This record gives sequence, C-alpha cells and structure tokens, in this order.
Amino acid sequence: MSDILAEAERLCAQAGVRLTPLRRRVLDLVARAGGPVKAYDLLSQIDRSRTNAKPPTVYRALDFLMEAGLVHKVEALNAYVACPQAGHGHAAVLYVCERCASVSEVLGARPGQENKPKGFKVKRSVVEHYGVCAKCAQNAAS
Ligand SMILES: [Zn+2]
Ligand SMILES: [Zn+2]
Repeated sequence: MSDILAEAERLCAQAGVRLTPLRRRVLDLVARAGGPVKAYDLLSQIDRSRTNAKPPTVYRALDFLMEAGLVHKVEALNAYVACPQAGHGHAAVLYVCERCASVSEVLGARPGQENKPKGFKVKRSVVEHYGVCAKCAQNAAS
C-alpha cells in the first residue's frame, strides 16, 4: 500500500468518514498519475463493469477527496493532483507550468485566511500561479 493511501485511511478514520473502494481507487489513480489528471481519464481507467462507476460517482469521489484534503483541483487545467501532504489544512498553492502542464504544490502557505470577510469559514482554497517551470526554462535556454 502506498504512503498516500495509508495516510488517507488514517485521515478518514480520524474524521470518521469512509474511504470507500471507489474513493480509494480514484485517489490511487490520481496519485499514480504523478501530474494533473482529468476526471474523464480517471473514468476510463476504472473498471466500470466491476465498480459500476458512472461519471457522477467519480465526480462525487473527487469531491470527497478534495474535502478531505487528499487531492486538489487545478482549475486552469480542469484536472486533479494528489496532495503531497494530505490534510494540511485544505489550502493549496499550486504552480502550474504552461509548457509541460506540471504542477508543483508549495506547502505551508495559508491563502484566504487574511482579510477574509468576518465570520466566513473557509472550506478550501486553491491559489494557482502560472509560468514556466525550471526544467522547461532550462530546456528553452539550452
Ligand atoms: Zn495540498
Ligand atoms: Zn514545465
């Protein structure tokens, strides 16, 4: 069992929610992708005859995983990435490379906590930065 799945089991048990086989499978696929992956691609990888996973089921599983802080949605790419540190507080700062579409997450930032409207409870935040990653910048220079 990979670290991310073990960590997911732990976090879900802690939160009193269930990591169903489908949620687990979706998380595993996102983690294995090693980069942003679209819901459609996830769906095609899931054995539908066995799990009876219809598109809404996969979207619900993704919603659950986002709520749990296990995956983040990259709005610009309409794709999902696994969080390198699950359950870090649901605020993600993502750096998206416009050339290779790689996504890096920076941990420790707390976007949306400053200057928020009084009494507003932030459920999840994602800040996306666009540019060129070091690898692509190097490739362009050489
Ligand atoms: Zn994260
Ligand atoms: Zn790049």
